[in-house]
Amino acid sequence: MDTRKIGIIAFLSTFTAAALFAQSGDPLVLANMARVNRELARRGLGIAVEQIEFFTIGLGRPSNRIHQQQFRWVPNDPRRNAQGEDITYLVDQSDGATASGLSSAQTETAIDNAMDTWQAEQCLKKVDLVKRADPGADPDIFDSFFGFGASGDPFLADIVEAGWLPRAYFEAVGGPGGGRGILAFSVTFIFTDDDGNPTDINGDNYLDSALNEVYYNDNFGNPAGDRAGNPWAIDAALPAIDVETVALHENGHSLELGHFGPPPAAVMNPVYAGPRHTPLAIDRAGMCAVWASWPNP
Ligand SMILES: [Zn+2]
Repeated sequence: MDTRKIGIIAFLSTFTAAALFAQSGDPLVLANMARVNRELARRGLGIAVEQIEFFTIGLGRPSNRIHQQQFRWVPNDPRRNAQGEDITYLVDQSDGATASGLSSAQTETAIDNAMDTWQAEQCLKKVDLVKRADPGADPDIFDSFFGFGASGDPFLADIVEAGWLPRAYFEAVGGPGGGRGILAFSVTFIFTDDDGNPTDINGDNYLDSALNEVYYNDNFGNPAGDRAGNPWAIDAALPAIDVETVALHENGHSLELGHFGPPPAAVMNPVYAGPRHTPLAIDRAGMCAVWASWPNP
């Protein structure tokens, strides 16, 4: 083989590796993700953390992704006990109350309203977002890797609203300033094969989503914390933080929208800008790109 061919093969190999494995984001967060993934691999669960997106107040934070290739839910995927072509969610009621004084029932209603808003989108008419009752068992796992709670059952629903956790959790996951700046985050897991590589079982050129967990920061409105002046609230303007607005953003991620920048008022802008219960055209376009052809690629 001449050296030119060898050079081309080397180039292609490098290119393929880069396309498959091109992590991006905050080095500290990526290190956290790598640590969690080593532990998941050791346990042989066949899942790996793929993306963490932070919704902040004040300074934005980078998206954190392991692969360049995007991910999608796979209809009828038996690995996640898929309910046919539905996407299921549940709200962990045990962590639903806030230090700012909201009850679990109040935050759950706000989250349900956000889900109803996405369900009403024209481009989501082919998918049913189905709520599952909280079974009482621990429905989430990501928090356990940071010393907050036990490792629950990750397959009780596709999307789990994991509730309001302490400031220290957000500082641990996001790094310095996370406890004060991160309102909530979404963590998406994908499926992996026996060798730890991501799968694409339906050949749609997307990695296969396994589960999504959403965590909300209970530092906001905690009288003993450094964000006492920004309490979680229902239908309230700044400086309060409106639960439904944050839930709408977070479940945009759960439904596989990424962040985009302007306009600041867009649901999927990564920095909180006050109450927004209705998607903008750019949010709608994002949802259509993901869901208009469901359940086919
Ligand atoms: Zn976000």
